[in-house]
Amino acid sequence: MGYNALMFPEFHIGDVVKMRKAHPCGGFDWKIYRLGADIGLECLTCQHRVFLSRRELAHKLKTLTPVSPVDEVPPTPQNSDEQ
Ligand SMILES: [Zn+2]
Repeated sequence: MGYNALMFPEFHIGDVVKMRKAHPCGGFDWKIYRLGADIGLECLTCQHRVFLSRRELAHKLKTLTPVSPVDEVPPTPQNSDEQ
């Protein structure tokens, strides 16, 4: 067992994943709308919804775009320290 961290990235609701294979509608991009034992994905092109296990998703996704970089930035007040 040495392949969990790489094979199973962390998912968050709102993340956009790009799949290796196009949906029949032609879209590659899906948004995560539900997390659980399985991951709920909504096609951004046709709004079709599917459930995939984390393993399936990890195998099918090409890139993972985090929901928003804002989450990564700690809230800092605009006031600058004047010393
Ligand atoms: Zn679609």
